[in-house]
Amino acid sequence: MEFSNIREVIKNEPRYRTDQIMRAVFVDLVEDWDKVTGLSKKLREELKKKCPLEIKGEIFISSNEDSVKVLMPLVDGKLIETVLMMYKGERNSVCVSCQVGCPMGCKFCATGKMGLIRDLTTDEIVSQVLFFSRYLKKEKKRVRSVVFMGMGEPFANYENVIGAIRLMHDPKGLGLGARRFSISTCGLVKGIQKLAKEELDVNLAISLHASNDTIRRKIMPVAQTYTIKELLEVVDDYIAVKHRKVMFEYLMISDLNDRDEHALELAKLMKGKLYVVNLISYNSTGEFKSSTQKRMKHFKNILEENGVEVTIRYRFGRDIQGACGQLATEKGKHQ
Ligand code: SF4
Repeated sequence: MEFSNIREVIKNEPRYRTDQIMRAVFVDLVEDWDKVTGLSKKLREELKKKCPLEIKGEIFISSNEDSVKVLMPLVDGKLIETVLMMYKGERNSVCVSCQVGCPMGCKFCATGKMGLIRDLTTDEIVSQVLFFSRYLKKEKKRVRSVVFMGMGEPFANYENVIGAIRLMHDPKGLGLGARRFSISTCGLVKGIQKLAKEELDVNLAISLHASNDTIRRKIMPVAQTYTIKELLEVVDDYIAVKHRKVMFEYLMISDLNDRDEHALELAKLMKGKLYVVNLISYNSTGEFKSSTQKRMKHFKNILEENGVEVTIRYRFGRDIQGACGQLATEKGKHQ
């Protein structure tokens, strides 16, 4: 969808038209301009031509129906993935992509292997959430939160990510509260510093995935630029401004970062701060294997015994290649 084209089409219309159209697109979630009967036929025809409402996507539903992945073709034929995660209590969350591929090259990540192909526009980011807003509407449900944990590094496409959040936060848009957005970064400190200056109080998550620099450098090239100490200093500055907890994502990879000594090392880094650790079971992508559930629970216990707040995230949709980039990489091979 091209929201920017809508602005162009209605630039000479009275101001109330904008509200009318925003409501139709983001609240009524119309998929056909002819359904917006308050607009003249001429305007509807122009909108149909210049701003078609169709958002294409191939849908994959996990066997236990807790997640739905859509493979979305963009105007240039590139493919991105977006995942809807359905938690108990109707806490439907959409995990969006912000780039086609990713420049950060994390070794455990299928998207990282693609390299950066291009940034997504603000419209392309918002369209992913709109796709699932329409999908859930059919079940009388709503998108409750949006996480930037799909393909791409959000701070490598900062302006478009923040622009998309602003549009979705707009009460005339999807009207999602700022705290319903989470941005996950692999640790681009300049992005964290910029976010600290934003008025919007969104949630920040850091992909840490290692308890020391030696292991982090093995799996995350960004660790060659910033040490964990430097990263945590910037996070602490962020917390001093925002007074909000920061989540540290930790993928549990067998025999790499999941031993007792790593848990103790991680506990030392995390203890006594406004930090929460989120242990994530890993969807193997070849080179690395996931830790067992028993190991994850043991790792969690060590952290808790050492005073760290910690949660475990069950990985959604293993049977639909739930890890980001797996499906787009596979399908992309056959394009
Ligand atoms: S884990 Fe995130 S930052 Fe790292 S390569 Fe994959 S998409 Fe990029």
